[in-house]
Amino acid sequence: MERGNSRAPQSTRRLFTHFAAISLVPVLLFGAVLVASYRAEARRHGIADGRLEAALLAQTAVEPLLTGRPLEAGLTPEETARVRTMVDRSIRQRSVLRLRLRDLDGRVVFSDDGSGFEESTPDHEALDAARGDAATKLTRLNSDSNDIGPSGVAAVEAYRQLRAGSPAAPVGVLELYLPYAPIAKNVSTGLRNLYRDLAVGLVALYLALFLISVLLSRGLRRELTRNKHLAEYDTLTGLPNRTLFQDRARDAVKGAVRWGERVAIAIIDLDRFKEINDTLGHHNGDRLLRELADRLAAHIGPTDTVARLGGDEFGLILRGLPRPDDALARLRAVIGREVEVNGVPLSVEASAGYVVAPHDGDDVDDLLQRADVAMYVAKTEHAGVVRYDSVHDHYDAATLGLIAELRRAIVDGHLVLHYQPKFAVADGRVEAVEALVRWRHPTLGLLYPDRFLPLVEQTDLIDDLTEWVLQRALADLRDLGPAVGELAMAVNVSARNLARPDFARRVIDMLAAAGVEPSRLIIEITETALLIEPARAAVILAELAAGGVSISIDDFGRGQTSLGYLSELPVHELKIDKTFVSDMLAQPAHAAIVRSIVDLGHNLALRVVAEGVETDGVLSSLRDSGCDVAQGYLLARPVPVEDLTAWLAAERADAERLPSPVA
Ligand code: C2E
Ligand code: MG
Ligand code: MG
Repeated sequence: MERGNSRAPQSTRRLFTHFAAISLVPVLLFGAVLVASYRAEARRHGIADGRLEAALLAQTAVEPLLTGRPLEAGLTPEETARVRTMVDRSIRQRSVLRLRLRDLDGRVVFSDDGSGFEESTPDHEALDAARGDAATKLTRLNSDSNDIGPSGVAAVEAYRQLRAGSPAAPVGVLELYLPYAPIAKNVSTGLRNLYRDLAVGLVALYLALFLISVLLSRGLRRELTRNKHLAEYDTLTGLPNRTLFQDRARDAVKGAVRWGERVAIAIIDLDRFKEINDTLGHHNGDRLLRELADRLAAHIGPTDTVARLGGDEFGLILRGLPRPDDALARLRAVIGREVEVNGVPLSVEASAGYVVAPHDGDDVDDLLQRADVAMYVAKTEHAGVVRYDSVHDHYDAATLGLIAELRRAIVDGHLVLHYQPKFAVADGRVEAVEALVRWRHPTLGLLYPDRFLPLVEQTDLIDDLTEWVLQRALADLRDLGPAVGELAMAVNVSARNLARPDFARRVIDMLAAAGVEPSRLIIEITETALLIEPARAAVILAELAAGGVSISIDDFGRGQTSLGYLSELPVHELKIDKTFVSDMLAQPAHAAIVRSIVDLGHNLALRVVAEGVETDGVLSSLRDSGCDVAQGYLLARPVPVEDLTAWLAAERADAERLPSPVA
């Protein structure tokens, strides 16, 4: 059985390769921008170097050769000779490529190779230089219009004003071509170093980026795995939760349909878990759930799944089992094995319902709902394990949905009580009223107990419902005030309520809290409910009776209570089931049963009540039989508390008259 999922995502490596490639792009772009900017900077450096060299040559090699006469009139022969010697030497040494001297109007007056004399308009750089604005640019030899010969090597072309004489004054312009290669060599040595540093820097940056992203993504992946785990697993037991269970069930059903296999989907619900939770505390309830989860996980096959669907409900997917009911019975036994919680040995019972796909359906939602229905049937019938059958369909989805809604309805105050009086047959006095619950459903209207109680009674929700009914009924009784005298309140309780060991104490506490005498409360429990767990019920009823509460056995005659058991119960009242009462005139057998129950009750010193009295004939027959109390539509229908108050007041005012029907 797979509890966790530690498989790393397969796409991790691909993701890393992608990231490595993608993060390379900005790093390379950044490198390209830096290289371009280095190049431009190197070029600027080259030009600046050229400018400096030109200035040096002008000041140290050319200007000292001039007499100080402006060059408009050309060079003197001596000047020409001196300049020629200097230029020839420089050209030989390859420190100069070409040298021209111009007058202040830009006209060439000396050119080492004889070029430039024929230009019609002087260079604007020459004119600017004549005015003192030196110009330097990177070019190639013979690229100007006045040059002759093919375009040559890379050169720095510089124009500079020449000053000579004493005091020094502008005499002409020096036009100079310096070889760029030696300058570029200098610059590119620096550039190479820069490129190397840049490459190292970029690689380091890339690695750092990569490392950061690896660490980050590892953290993210861990977080993702954790979130995925939280979304799919139950934190208390570590089992898959409902979401993952549904996904797996869907896959299993698909597989079953495709390969012609059988897969069982089961729901196991613990019986009376709420009681354990309430008596031993939630902490111990949680420990119990963990223990049971571990047991279930250890006892299923490797391809099976056990999940916690919520509360005390587990889901199972069992594959390839010829008899899922045997497997589930074994799992129930595993759950039922004694477990010690907080030093208290406990054994927990569970009910299981299951479906077999694809036989019982191929839609997972339908299958789960049917497994749920089967589970409810298992609970109701105390059958342990039940396979879904379409005859169970009266537990339809709508009813199951209602149960889910009821929890909120109790909190939101959507339940109401109607009260039906019980009359003393002898004098027509109202000696008690019975509280009957109704649900004011926001869309379905007023719902009667038969619509929702049978299912609620199979869940722990019945505890909340009974508690609410008791509290409301006792509060209403108190509010009726002293005018109603010793009027008693009858409240119906379910078998499941009696399964709670603290039920009697809670009832007594509620009486005390409401300030109502225990003798004014009658607890009605149906005969069939008593038979579910007679020993347990007897203990609780004894505690209630000891606290002063009256006990009435409702719907008497429908079950087969042993008279021995009955005589031992602390019972005060038998309430003959209405099926015998309402048609006792038409059915002599029923009339005989009514008479027998009246006699039985009286022989056991019990009060006997007949419910379902609908006609005067039945009422007088009951009177003849010696029945003590009558209840039925003939006398009064169940009514809301306001109507009951008004009706009781009218009754008191007309105490002499026999009771007449309400509504
Ligand atoms: P019950 O305790 O035997 O209550 C008598 C039922 O018979 C009530 O139905 C009442 O309205 C109905 N009834 C009264 N007089 C007549 C009559 O003359 N003729 C006929 N045909 N019926 C009559 P209701 O209110 O629908 O309750 C049905 C059952 O639901 C109750 O049977 C009781 O077992 C259960 N119930 C009602 N309220 C509660 C509650 O608060 N808690 C629990 N645990 N069960 C409740
Ligand atoms: Mg009743
Ligand atoms: Mg009844």
